[in-house]
Amino acid sequence: MKKTLSQLSFIQRKFQEYYLKGKVPMPSRFEEREFGFLLFSEGMVRHKGFENSKDLQRFLCEFTPSDVYYSCAFYEHPEAPMDEKGWLGADLIFDIDADHISTPCRKMHDVWICGGCGFGGKGAAPERCPHCKGERFKVKAWACEVCLESAKAEVLKLLDMLFEDFGFSEGEVRVFFSGHRGYHVHVESEAVWSLGSAARKEIVDYVLGLGLDAKFHGLENLKGYGIARVVGPSLEDFGWRGRLARGVYEIILDASERKLESLGLSRRVAKLLLKNRDKILESWNMEGPWGIIRGVGLESWKKLVAGSINLQSAKVDTVVTTDVHRLIRLENTLHGKTGFKKTRVDLSHIEEFDPFREGIAFRKGTVKVFVTESPKIKIGDELFGPLRDEWVELPTAVAVLLLCKGVARVADENV
Ligand SMILES: [Zn+2]
Ligand SMILES: [Zn+2]
Repeated sequence: MKKTLSQLSFIQRKFQEYYLKGKVPMPSRFEEREFGFLLFSEGMVRHKGFENSKDLQRFLCEFTPSDVYYSCAFYEHPEAPMDEKGWLGADLIFDIDADHISTPCRKMHDVWICGGCGFGGKGAAPERCPHCKGERFKVKAWACEVCLESAKAEVLKLLDMLFEDFGFSEGEVRVFFSGHRGYHVHVESEAVWSLGSAARKEIVDYVLGLGLDAKFHGLENLKGYGIARVVGPSLEDFGWRGRLARGVYEIILDASERKLESLGLSRRVAKLLLKNRDKILESWNMEGPWGIIRGVGLESWKKLVAGSINLQSAKVDTVVTTDVHRLIRLENTLHGKTGFKKTRVDLSHIEEFDPFREGIAFRKGTVKVFVTESPKIKIGDELFGPLRDEWVELPTAVAVLLLCKGVARVADENV
């Protein structure tokens, strides 16, 4: 369903009510930041600057954009054109989005439609339309608990690296629910401000475990006394060494023959590993399993380590982190695709954080809407749908979500 002007104005009115009531916190060093806005009437307004929170608040109430952004960078002249801004530095930002994680639930709730012929299906879009071979698709992506839990698992891995490996303090790192399909991690520290794109790419590579060679992390054939023996890292080693070991431990712990073969191991090696599972798990108390199973050599361990890197790396979006001019969503502002707000996550309660409870911006009232098609949605403790071609009275947060997604409309008397 295409969102008509009157439907948009209903959403915009709701957004305006939100900004009239709620306060939006200013980012640090806000006088040096560029602000940008996506308007409901389409089109982006950027290169804006604000001297105080009152002016921003007034702007939000008056123009009520669908999305609100600010620059990760600080500038001498935030309102000047890009090449005259005078870049002074930038926070380090990570974006973890369910789009980059293959969750099984996408087959249930995501829908794609071919831009060429209108053919469509569920799940992620194919590379080419099976019908007309077109490559342009419209994708309707939804986030569910499973998606956001897997995104959060990536955040936890990232945080562990930021605190343990990079040595950032808790005061320098903030985590947010993006309001849609993922999480943002902001690092505000003097140590990162001056880093250019290439340096940030190095950080991304570290976090993603790109270009890791196990050889440089202790996994090798050690030759002595005429015999070769495989040695490798221990569980408590620092940085990626320990991560490689812990990942291998995890793989062995819940391995099946099929899983091991999917890592490229032969059936014979898979069987050997499973037969010796207890022995391998116990071996971590001593030197680890690397040299103890006859018939499992260096090449097999390398394959297990590759699987371990995949488990231990944090799936961040490279483009976001390396862009030193990036605009990012502002805390407590609404996401135009959902009506949820970008929400700060308390680091000490991150495990329990529920985006579909704490990210709700519209907590009061109900709205009657006609829903064309929506998957099952869980908000708070309540389940809604799946719905198809029916009028329903829904809590405002759910109605706004469906309206933002373009799968519902309000009755004419309400717009
Ligand atoms: Zn097609
Ligand atoms: Zn999902």
